[in-house]
Amino acid sequence: MTASVSENLEAVQQTIAEACKKVNRNREDVELIAVTKYVSAKRAAEAVDAGILHLGENRDEGLLEKYESIGEKATWHFIGSLQTRKVKNVIDKVDYIHSLDRLSLAKEIDKRAEHRIKCFVQVNVAEEQSKHGLAVEDVIPFIQSLEAFANIQVVGLMTMAPHTDDESTLRSCFKGLKKLQNRIQELNLPYAPCTELSMGMSNDYAIAIEEGATFIRLGTTLVGNER
Ligand SMILES: *Cc1c(COP(=O)(O)O)cnc(C)c1O
Repeated sequence: MTASVSENLEAVQQTIAEACKKVNRNREDVELIAVTKYVSAKRAAEAVDAGILHLGENRDEGLLEKYESIGEKATWHFIGSLQTRKVKNVIDKVDYIHSLDRLSLAKEIDKRAEHRIKCFVQVNVAEEQSKHGLAVEDVIPFIQSLEAFANIQVVGLMTMAPHTDDESTLRSCFKGLKKLQNRIQELNLPYAPCTELSMGMSNDYAIAIEEGATFIRLGTTLVGNER
C-alpha cells in the first residue's frame, strides 16, 4: 500500500523543522511545493486536501490536467524546462515559472502574460551537461537584459543539484546559488528583488534548507512517483 500524502507530509514536516532548527531559520520562511508530475490528478487533489497549497508540474499537459480538477485552490508552479511555443498554454494558470533561462522565453512570457509573472532564473550551478539553466557567470548579464519586460519579475533563482548522495557536492551547489543571489540583491534592481531560492528535492531538501532554500520542490517523498 502506498502511504497517504498526509503520512508522508508528517515525516517531511519533521525533516523541514529539524533543518530549520539546525541553522536557526524560521519554519515559515520555507515554502513546500508538491511536485505532482508523476501522479494522478486525484493524488494531487489529496495533497491539496492535506493542506499543501503549492503544486508544481513540469509539462503543460500535466499542469492542465491537474488545473482542470483543482483550479485556483492551489498556487501553480511551472518547474520544468518550458518550450517557447507552450507558454500560451500555461501562462494564464501559473503563478510562478521556475525555469526562465533564455531571452526568447522571457519575450514570449512578457508578450502572453496578462499580469506580472513571478519568475525564477534557472542556474546550472554544477555545470552538468545534461541540465538546463544558465552558467553562473551568465546570470547577471541575463537578469540585466530583462529590465524591459514589464510582465516579468525575477523573484529568485532556481537550481537542480547533481543526482548524488555526496553531501559536500550538494552543499557546494546550494552555496553557489546563495552566493549568486547575494550578488544580484546588491544590484538593487526593482524588477529583480531575488529574495527567493528554489532548491531542494526529495533526496537533498534538508541540506538545501540549511543552505537557504525558501522553496523546496518535493515529488517522490511526498506524493510518490507512480500514477
Ligand atoms: C521532478 C522534479 C522535482 C521533484 O523531484 P523528486 O526527486 O521526486 O522530489 C523537483 N524539481 C524539478 C525541476 C523536477 O523536475
